[in-house]
Amino acid sequence: MKKHVITMLPGEGTGPEICEAVRRVIDHSGVDITWEYEEIGLDCLKEHGTLLPEKTIKSIAKNKIAIKGPTTTPVGTGHKSANVTLRKMFDLYANVRPAKLIPVLKRPWDKIDILSFRENTEDSYAAIEHMVSDEVAQCLKVITWPGSIRIAEFAFKWARANNRKKMQCVHKANIMKMTDGLFLEAFREVAKNYPDIVAEDIIVDNCSMQLVRNPGQFDCLVLPNLYGDILSDLCAGLVGGLGFAPGANIGDNCSIFEAVHGSAPKYAGMKKVNPSAVLLSGVMMLKWLNEHEAATRIEKGVDKVLAEAKHLTYDAGGTASTDEYADAIIKAMETV
Ligand code: NAD
Repeated sequence: MKKHVITMLPGEGTGPEICEAVRRVIDHSGVDITWEYEEIGLDCLKEHGTLLPEKTIKSIAKNKIAIKGPTTTPVGTGHKSANVTLRKMFDLYANVRPAKLIPVLKRPWDKIDILSFRENTEDSYAAIEHMVSDEVAQCLKVITWPGSIRIAEFAFKWARANNRKKMQCVHKANIMKMTDGLFLEAFREVAKNYPDIVAEDIIVDNCSMQLVRNPGQFDCLVLPNLYGDILSDLCAGLVGGLGFAPGANIGDNCSIFEAVHGSAPKYAGMKKVNPSAVLLSGVMMLKWLNEHEAATRIEKGVDKVLAEAKHLTYDAGGTASTDEYADAIIKAMETV
Protein backbone atom coordinates (compact mmCIF):
# COMPACT_ATOMS: atom_id res chain seq x y z
CA MET A 1 0.00 0.00 0.00
CA LYS A 2 1.30 3.46 -0.91
CA LYS A 3 2.21 5.73 1.99
CA HIS A 4 1.21 9.39 1.88
CA VAL A 5 2.46 12.32 3.93
CA ILE A 6 -0.20 15.03 4.06
CA THR A 7 -0.15 18.41 5.76
CA MET A 8 -3.15 18.85 8.06
CA LEU A 9 -4.21 22.44 8.76
CA PRO A 10 -7.03 22.30 11.32
CA GLY A 11 -7.60 26.07 11.10
CA GLU A 12 -9.79 28.02 13.50
CA GLY A 13 -13.28 28.28 14.95
CA THR A 14 -14.98 24.95 14.27
CA GLY A 15 -12.01 23.85 12.09
CA PRO A 16 -10.10 21.81 14.71
CA GLU A 17 -13.12 19.77 15.88
CA ILE A 18 -14.17 19.11 12.27
CA CYS A 19 -10.67 18.14 11.18
CA GLU A 20 -10.24 15.74 14.08
CA ALA A 21 -13.46 13.93 13.10
CA VAL A 22 -12.36 13.89 9.46
CA ARG A 23 -8.91 12.51 10.29
CA ARG A 24 -10.47 9.66 12.30
CA VAL A 25 -12.75 8.68 9.40
CA ILE A 26 -10.00 8.90 6.76
CA ASP A 27 -7.62 6.86 8.94
CA HIS A 28 -10.32 4.21 9.13
CA SER A 29 -10.70 4.00 5.34
CA GLY A 30 -7.65 1.79 4.92
CA VAL A 31 -5.36 4.41 3.42
CA ASP A 32 -1.85 4.86 4.85
CA ILE A 33 -1.35 8.51 5.76
CA THR A 34 1.16 10.23 8.01
CA TRP A 35 -0.38 13.56 9.00
CA GLU A 36 1.82 16.57 9.56
CA TYR A 37 -0.18 18.94 11.74
CA GLU A 38 0.63 22.59 11.07
CA GLU A 39 -0.76 25.89 12.25
CA ILE A 40 -2.48 28.62 10.26
CA GLY A 41 -4.56 31.67 11.13
CA LEU A 42 -5.23 34.17 13.86
CA ASP A 43 -3.70 32.19 16.75
CA CYS A 44 -0.43 32.03 14.79
CA LEU A 45 -0.57 35.77 14.33
CA LYS A 46 -0.74 36.19 18.10
CA GLU A 47 1.94 33.59 18.77
CA HIS A 48 4.34 33.87 15.82
CA GLY A 49 3.48 37.30 14.37
CA THR A 50 2.29 35.77 11.11
CA LEU A 51 -0.82 34.01 9.82
CA LEU A 52 1.27 31.52 7.92
CA PRO A 53 4.38 30.40 9.83
CA GLU A 54 7.43 29.36 7.80
CA LYS A 55 7.13 25.81 9.21
CA THR A 56 3.62 25.51 7.74
CA ILE A 57 4.74 26.80 4.35
CA LYS A 58 7.68 24.36 4.33
CA SER A 59 5.44 21.40 5.15
CA ILE A 60 3.00 22.20 2.32
CA ALA A 61 5.84 22.84 -0.14
CA LYS A 62 7.45 19.51 0.77
CA ASN A 63 4.32 17.35 0.78
CA LYS A 64 2.61 19.16 -2.11
CA ILE A 65 -0.74 18.18 -0.66
CA ALA A 66 -2.74 19.46 2.30
CA ILE A 67 -6.20 19.33 3.79
CA LYS A 68 -7.41 22.42 5.52
CA GLY A 69 -10.07 23.44 7.99
CA PRO A 70 -11.51 26.95 7.74
CA THR A 71 -9.83 30.07 9.07
CA THR A 72 -11.34 33.34 10.28
CA THR A 73 -10.85 36.63 8.43
CA PRO A 74 -12.10 39.84 10.06
CA VAL A 75 -14.60 41.84 8.02
CA GLY A 76 -13.65 45.35 6.87
CA THR A 77 -10.41 45.76 8.81
CA GLY A 78 -7.61 43.55 10.11
CA HIS A 79 -5.36 40.99 8.50
CA LYS A 80 -5.50 39.65 4.96
CA SER A 81 -7.16 36.30 4.41
CA ALA A 82 -4.78 33.40 5.11
CA ASN A 83 -6.68 31.41 2.47
CA VAL A 84 -6.18 33.96 -0.26
CA THR A 85 -2.48 34.23 0.69
CA LEU A 86 -2.10 30.44 0.56
CA ARG A 87 -3.81 30.13 -2.81
CA LYS A 88 -1.61 32.84 -4.29
CA MET A 89 1.59 31.56 -2.66
CA PHE A 90 1.17 28.05 -4.08
CA ASP A 91 -0.51 29.27 -7.28
CA LEU A 92 -3.58 27.10 -6.63
CA TYR A 93 -5.38 28.56 -9.61
CA ALA A 94 -8.29 26.14 -9.90
CA ASN A 95 -10.93 25.90 -7.19
CA VAL A 96 -13.15 22.89 -7.91
CA ARG A 97 -16.44 22.86 -5.98
CA PRO A 98 -18.94 20.08 -6.64
CA ALA A 99 -22.55 20.51 -5.52
CA LYS A 100 -24.28 17.16 -5.80
CA LEU A 101 -27.66 16.34 -4.40
CA ILE A 102 -27.45 13.64 -1.75
CA PRO A 103 -30.56 11.59 -2.52
CA VAL A 104 -31.50 10.87 1.08
CA LEU A 105 -31.49 14.56 1.97
CA LYS A 106 -34.88 15.62 0.66
CA ARG A 107 -34.87 18.79 -1.48
CA PRO A 108 -37.46 20.25 -3.85
CA TRP A 109 -35.33 19.13 -6.84
CA ASP A 110 -34.70 15.60 -8.05
CA LYS A 111 -31.36 16.26 -9.74
CA ILE A 112 -28.51 18.60 -8.96
CA ASP A 113 -24.97 17.77 -9.96
CA ILE A 114 -23.11 21.00 -10.61
CA LEU A 115 -19.34 21.34 -10.84
CA SER A 116 -18.00 24.86 -10.35
CA PHE A 117 -14.50 25.74 -11.54
CA ARG A 118 -13.56 29.02 -9.91
CA GLU A 119 -10.46 30.94 -10.97
CA ASN A 120 -8.67 31.23 -7.66
CA THR A 121 -5.88 33.81 -7.95
CA GLU A 122 -7.11 36.89 -9.86
CA ASP A 123 -10.15 39.16 -10.17
CA SER A 124 -10.97 41.47 -7.26
CA TYR A 125 -9.27 38.91 -4.97
CA ALA A 126 -5.85 40.09 -6.14
CA ALA A 127 -6.17 42.33 -3.01
CA ILE A 128 -5.22 45.54 -4.81
CA GLU A 129 -7.30 48.02 -2.85
CA HIS A 130 -6.65 51.60 -1.91
CA MET A 131 -8.30 54.80 -0.77
CA VAL A 132 -8.40 57.33 -3.59
CA SER A 133 -9.54 59.99 -1.11
CA ASP A 134 -11.16 59.92 2.33
CA GLU A 135 -14.49 59.19 0.68
CA VAL A 136 -13.53 56.99 -2.26
CA ALA A 137 -12.23 53.45 -2.03
CA GLN A 138 -11.08 51.51 -5.06
CA CYS A 139 -10.51 47.80 -5.66
CA LEU A 140 -8.87 46.66 -8.86
CA LYS A 141 -10.33 43.73 -10.74
CA VAL A 142 -7.47 41.99 -12.51
CA ILE A 143 -8.21 39.42 -15.19
CA THR A 144 -5.36 38.13 -17.37
CA TRP A 145 -5.36 36.15 -20.60
CA PRO A 146 -2.98 33.43 -19.27
CA GLY A 147 -4.98 33.15 -16.03
CA SER A 148 -8.25 32.84 -17.93
CA ILE A 149 -6.85 30.34 -20.43
CA ARG A 150 -5.48 28.05 -17.72
CA ILE A 151 -8.70 27.89 -15.68
CA ALA A 152 -10.74 27.25 -18.85
CA GLU A 153 -8.27 24.58 -19.94
CA PHE A 154 -8.35 23.00 -16.46
CA ALA A 155 -12.16 23.01 -16.40
CA PHE A 156 -12.60 21.44 -19.83
CA LYS A 157 -9.92 18.83 -19.15
CA TRP A 158 -11.53 17.86 -15.82
CA ALA A 159 -14.99 17.83 -17.43
CA ARG A 160 -13.85 15.55 -20.24
CA ALA A 161 -12.08 13.17 -17.83
CA ASN A 162 -15.30 12.96 -15.80
CA ASN A 163 -17.63 12.55 -18.75
CA ARG A 164 -19.39 15.88 -18.27
CA LYS A 165 -21.37 17.25 -21.19
CA LYS A 166 -21.81 21.00 -20.83
CA MET A 167 -19.59 23.90 -19.72
CA GLN A 168 -20.97 27.39 -19.12
CA CYS A 169 -18.80 30.46 -18.68
CA VAL A 170 -20.35 32.78 -16.10
CA HIS A 171 -19.56 36.49 -16.59
CA LYS A 172 -20.78 40.07 -16.71
CA ALA A 173 -19.10 40.94 -20.00
CA ASN A 174 -22.06 43.08 -21.05
CA ILE A 175 -20.92 45.63 -18.45
CA MET A 176 -17.26 44.76 -17.73
CA LYS A 177 -16.41 44.41 -21.37
CA MET A 178 -12.64 44.30 -20.95
CA THR A 179 -12.12 42.18 -17.82
CA ASP A 180 -15.03 39.75 -18.09
CA GLY A 181 -14.81 40.11 -21.86
CA LEU A 182 -11.26 38.75 -21.76
CA PHE A 183 -12.31 35.88 -19.50
CA LEU A 184 -15.10 34.98 -21.93
CA GLU A 185 -12.88 35.27 -24.99
CA ALA A 186 -10.31 32.91 -23.42
CA PHE A 187 -13.13 30.46 -22.60
CA ARG A 188 -14.30 30.51 -26.23
CA GLU A 189 -10.74 29.97 -27.45
CA VAL A 190 -10.24 26.90 -25.25
CA ALA A 191 -13.72 25.54 -26.01
CA LYS A 192 -12.69 25.07 -29.67
CA ASN A 193 -10.46 22.18 -28.56
CA TYR A 194 -13.34 20.41 -26.78
CA PRO A 195 -16.03 19.86 -29.43
CA ASP A 196 -17.39 16.94 -27.36
CA ILE A 197 -18.50 19.38 -24.61
CA VAL A 198 -21.26 21.92 -25.24
CA ALA A 199 -19.83 25.39 -24.51
CA GLU A 200 -22.18 28.22 -23.60
CA ASP A 201 -22.01 31.44 -21.66
CA ILE A 202 -24.40 33.00 -19.19
CA ILE A 203 -24.54 36.38 -17.46
CA VAL A 204 -23.97 36.05 -13.71
CA ASP A 205 -27.22 37.66 -12.52
CA ASN A 206 -29.33 35.49 -14.81
CA CYS A 207 -27.26 32.46 -13.77
CA SER A 208 -28.06 33.14 -10.10
CA MET A 209 -31.78 33.32 -10.79
CA GLN A 210 -31.72 30.18 -12.99
CA LEU A 211 -29.75 28.27 -10.34
CA VAL A 212 -32.52 28.91 -7.84
CA ARG A 213 -35.39 28.30 -10.27
CA ASN A 214 -34.08 25.27 -12.14
CA PRO A 215 -30.72 23.97 -10.92
CA GLY A 216 -31.13 20.65 -12.76
CA GLN A 217 -30.30 22.33 -16.08
CA PHE A 218 -26.68 23.07 -15.04
CA ASP A 219 -23.69 20.79 -15.50
CA CYS A 220 -20.31 22.61 -15.25
CA LEU A 221 -19.63 26.29 -14.60
CA VAL A 222 -16.35 28.13 -15.06
CA LEU A 223 -16.21 31.46 -13.25
CA PRO A 224 -13.89 34.31 -12.32
CA ASN A 225 -12.92 34.37 -8.65
CA LEU A 226 -15.67 36.52 -7.06
CA TYR A 227 -18.65 35.09 -8.95
CA GLY A 228 -17.20 31.61 -8.28
CA ASP A 229 -17.06 32.27 -4.55
CA ILE A 230 -20.62 33.55 -4.37
CA LEU A 231 -22.31 31.09 -6.72
CA SER A 232 -20.62 28.03 -5.21
CA ASP A 233 -22.12 29.02 -1.83
CA LEU A 234 -25.48 29.32 -3.58
CA CYS A 235 -24.98 25.83 -5.05
CA ALA A 236 -24.07 24.56 -1.57
CA GLY A 237 -27.36 25.93 -0.29
CA LEU A 238 -29.22 24.01 -2.99
CA VAL A 239 -27.84 20.63 -1.96
CA GLY A 240 -28.23 20.80 1.79
CA GLY A 241 -26.13 23.71 3.03
CA LEU A 242 -22.50 24.50 3.67
CA GLY A 243 -22.09 21.40 5.82
CA PHE A 244 -22.18 19.29 2.65
CA ALA A 245 -20.11 21.36 0.21
CA PRO A 246 -16.54 20.17 -0.42
CA GLY A 247 -13.80 21.77 -2.51
CA ALA A 248 -10.26 21.51 -3.84
CA ASN A 249 -7.66 24.18 -4.62
CA ILE A 250 -5.42 22.81 -7.32
CA GLY A 251 -2.22 24.13 -8.86
CA ASP A 252 0.41 22.57 -11.09
CA ASN A 253 2.65 21.62 -8.14
CA CYS A 254 0.48 21.53 -5.05
CA SER A 255 -3.12 20.96 -3.96
CA ILE A 256 -5.00 22.01 -0.84
CA PHE A 257 -8.38 20.47 -0.15
CA GLU A 258 -10.88 22.47 1.89
CA ALA A 259 -14.61 22.90 2.32
CA VAL A 260 -16.57 25.81 0.89
CA HIS A 261 -17.63 26.93 4.37
CA GLY A 262 -15.85 29.22 6.80
CA SER A 263 -14.98 28.80 10.47
CA ALA A 264 -18.60 29.16 11.70
CA PRO A 265 -17.24 30.85 14.86
CA LYS A 266 -20.58 30.95 16.67
CA TYR A 267 -20.45 27.14 16.91
CA ALA A 268 -16.75 26.87 17.83
CA GLY A 269 -16.11 24.39 20.63
CA MET A 270 -19.72 23.15 20.65
CA LYS A 271 -18.87 20.05 18.60
CA LYS A 272 -22.15 20.27 16.72
CA VAL A 273 -21.21 21.26 13.17
CA ASN A 274 -21.27 18.91 10.25
CA PRO A 275 -17.85 17.55 9.23
CA SER A 276 -19.17 16.22 5.87
CA ALA A 277 -17.90 19.14 3.79
CA VAL A 278 -14.31 18.71 4.98
CA LEU A 279 -14.68 14.92 4.88
CA LEU A 280 -15.92 15.03 1.27
CA SER A 281 -12.99 17.37 0.50
CA GLY A 282 -10.88 14.53 1.92
CA VAL A 283 -12.65 12.12 -0.44
CA MET A 284 -11.69 14.41 -3.35
CA MET A 285 -8.13 14.34 -2.00
CA LEU A 286 -8.08 10.53 -1.85
CA LYS A 287 -9.33 10.35 -5.47
CA TRP A 288 -6.64 12.86 -6.46
CA LEU A 289 -4.13 10.44 -4.84
CA ASN A 290 -5.69 7.50 -6.74
CA GLU A 291 -6.93 6.00 -3.47
CA HIS A 292 -10.31 5.19 -5.00
CA GLU A 293 -11.13 2.23 -2.78
CA ALA A 294 -10.72 4.24 0.42
CA ALA A 295 -12.62 7.17 -1.10
CA THR A 296 -15.56 4.96 -2.09
CA ARG A 297 -15.63 3.34 1.35
CA ILE A 298 -16.01 6.75 2.99
CA GLU A 299 -18.66 7.88 0.48
CA LYS A 300 -20.68 4.73 1.09
CA GLY A 301 -20.31 5.18 4.86
CA VAL A 302 -21.62 8.75 4.62
CA ASP A 303 -24.52 7.68 2.38
CA LYS A 304 -25.47 4.91 4.80
CA VAL A 305 -25.47 7.19 7.83
CA LEU A 306 -27.53 9.80 6.00
CA ALA A 307 -29.98 7.16 4.74
CA GLU A 308 -30.45 5.71 8.23
CA ALA A 309 -30.96 9.26 9.53
CA LYS A 310 -30.24 8.23 13.14
CA HIS A 311 -27.02 10.17 13.62
CA LEU A 312 -27.46 13.44 11.75
CA THR A 313 -25.94 16.78 12.72
CA TYR A 314 -28.23 19.75 13.41
CA ASP A 315 -28.07 21.15 9.87
CA ALA A 316 -29.39 17.86 8.46
CA GLY A 317 -32.24 17.83 10.97
CA GLY A 318 -30.61 15.69 13.69
CA THR A 319 -29.06 16.13 17.11
CA ALA A 320 -25.81 14.15 16.75
CA SER A 321 -22.54 15.82 17.64
CA THR A 322 -19.65 16.12 15.18
CA ASP A 323 -17.99 13.13 16.87
CA GLU A 324 -21.13 10.96 17.06
CA TYR A 325 -21.70 11.54 13.34
CA ALA A 326 -18.06 10.63 12.56
CA ASP A 327 -18.33 7.51 14.79
CA ALA A 328 -21.48 6.44 12.92
CA ILE A 329 -19.64 6.80 9.58
CA ILE A 330 -16.69 4.78 10.90
CA LYS A 331 -19.10 2.02 12.03
CA ALA A 332 -20.99 2.13 8.72
CA MET A 333 -17.73 1.80 6.77
CA GLU A 334 -17.16 -1.57 8.41
CA THR A 335 -20.24 -3.02 6.72
CA VAL A 336 -20.16 -1.40 3.27
P1 NAD B 1 -19.40 30.28 7.56
O1 NAD B 1 -19.30 29.43 6.35
O2 NAD B 1 -18.34 30.12 8.57
O3 NAD B 1 -20.79 30.03 8.30
C1 NAD B 1 -22.04 30.48 7.83
C2 NAD B 1 -23.12 29.62 8.46
O4 NAD B 1 -23.18 28.39 7.74
C3 NAD B 1 -22.85 29.20 9.91
O5 NAD B 1 -23.28 30.13 10.83
C4 NAD B 1 -23.61 27.91 9.99
O6 NAD B 1 -24.98 28.19 10.19
C5 NAD B 1 -23.43 27.31 8.60
N1 NAD B 1 -22.30 26.37 8.55
C6 NAD B 1 -21.04 26.61 8.11
N2 NAD B 1 -20.31 25.51 8.18
C7 NAD B 1 -21.09 24.55 8.70
C8 NAD B 1 -20.89 23.17 9.03
N3 NAD B 1 -19.72 22.55 8.83
N4 NAD B 1 -21.94 22.49 9.55
C9 NAD B 1 -23.11 23.07 9.74
N5 NAD B 1 -23.37 24.35 9.45
C10 NAD B 1 -22.36 25.09 8.93
O7 NAD B 1 -19.48 31.79 7.03
P2 NAD B 1 -19.32 33.19 7.80
O8 NAD B 1 -20.01 33.12 9.13
O9 NAD B 1 -19.70 34.17 6.79
O10 NAD B 1 -17.75 33.32 8.03
C11 NAD B 1 -17.09 32.99 9.25
C12 NAD B 1 -15.60 33.19 9.06
O11 NAD B 1 -15.09 32.22 8.15
C13 NAD B 1 -15.21 34.56 8.48
O12 NAD B 1 -14.10 35.03 9.20
C14 NAD B 1 -14.83 34.26 7.03
O13 NAD B 1 -13.86 35.15 6.53
C15 NAD B 1 -14.25 32.85 7.17
N6 NAD B 1 -14.30 32.05 5.95
C16 NAD B 1 -13.24 31.20 5.77
C17 NAD B 1 -13.24 30.36 4.67
C18 NAD B 1 -12.07 29.40 4.52
O14 NAD B 1 -11.31 29.22 5.47
N7 NAD B 1 -11.90 28.76 3.39
C19 NAD B 1 -14.30 30.36 3.76
C20 NAD B 1 -15.38 31.22 3.99
C21 NAD B 1 -15.37 32.06 5.10
